[in-house]
Amino acid sequence: MKILSVNAGSSSLKFTLFELPEKKELINGTFEKIGIGNSFYTLKINGEKIRREVDLTDHGVAVKYLMDELINNKIISSLDEIDGIGHRVVQGGALYNKTVLVDEKVIKDIEDLADLAPLHNKAHVIGIKAFIEALPNTPNTVVFDTAFHQTMEEDKFLYPIPYELYEKYNIRKYGFHGTSHRFITNSISEYLNRMDLKIISCHIGNGSSITAIKNGKVIDTSMGLTPLAGVMMGTRCGDIDPSIIPFIMKKENLNADQISDLLNKKSGLLGISGVSSDSRDIEDGLNNGNKRCMLAQKMCVKTIVNYIAMYNNLLNGADVICFTAGIGENSILTREMIAESLSSLGIKIDKERNNVRGKFALISSDDSKIPMYVVPTNEELMIAIDTYNLIK
Ligand code: ADP
Repeated sequence: MKILSVNAGSSSLKFTLFELPEKKELINGTFEKIGIGNSFYTLKINGEKIRREVDLTDHGVAVKYLMDELINNKIISSLDEIDGIGHRVVQGGALYNKTVLVDEKVIKDIEDLADLAPLHNKAHVIGIKAFIEALPNTPNTVVFDTAFHQTMEEDKFLYPIPYELYEKYNIRKYGFHGTSHRFITNSISEYLNRMDLKIISCHIGNGSSITAIKNGKVIDTSMGLTPLAGVMMGTRCGDIDPSIIPFIMKKENLNADQISDLLNKKSGLLGISGVSSDSRDIEDGLNNGNKRCMLAQKMCVKTIVNYIAMYNNLLNGADVICFTAGIGENSILTREMIAESLSSLGIKIDKERNNVRGKFALISSDDSKIPMYVVPTNEELMIAIDTYNLIK
């Protein structure tokens, strides 16, 4: 079966076409700057990269170009060969704890949940509708970032604010990156041949979240009502004293959108280093003696270490710690600094084993009390597998 995995943003559309059950990636690409001018798309087929500048007035036009490319590159001979389309959706609220087939109610629910993720959910619906129009006979599914976290219990997902606000506005922790944490859970459980693992899954990229998983179920996770909470990230602050928010608003005369922008886009590694949100630039900076880059790196590591230690306690001793996503898979320095700060838990990194990027690997020494692995994530494949399982 050929399954398309789609991630639609407000001005972008990313896709990967898979052959399943073989898990073979046939083509992937990204449409960018949809509806805002200077639009273009890039494709990767058999290792070759193609870039075309075209006028993408809306997502429907992007989908049309995508279908033409699939046919012109002889990946499919007719649109009927696409058996299913899986869409990433950021916010499924408390309504969805698993992947579902798209129908009118599902679309309405995603729209109604836009209050909790305004930019994302609206864009996802535009993407879903564009594919339904282009391929009216092909089943669509939605895979929610929040779904895997729905096993959290009330004492973990509630905030200590008046309970009525939870009842009135659904203010609670939802957690994100669930598709990635689920992929990591499946990969490490399969590798170790154990379904009863206590896992600390560290998804560390531009956005980062740490999740505690027991017997395949999420116990707690670091992101919250929105993906701003938890550890320090590329441009997001993570957990801070909430009083800082009204304080800055008053002092700098900022409204709600402006303070949200400051905490989401100008904070984290970027805010502290003043240099970049990209961990490669931070590493370059600290290697060249830039003190603010060193400070940013240390602060970021500290917040991750705090969550790992907390979740180790919550799990009453983790069986395994996994690192994934851009930084987790590739930053040797970040993993080493995290491990060194966890020595009180008997964690020991093996520097030679840790000298690895983007590959599944054991990185702790044999006498480490908790083994640590790099486990590359693949959210697109997880979305395709879910879709395949639902429609086959
Ligand atoms: P997103 O949250 O946007 O999906 P990614 O998971 O792609 O982000 O992670 C992006 C981060 O991964 C960036 O900070 C980038 O610098 C980092 N990264 C990628 N490759 C490396 C590397 N070789 N060394 C250090 N950091 C890396």
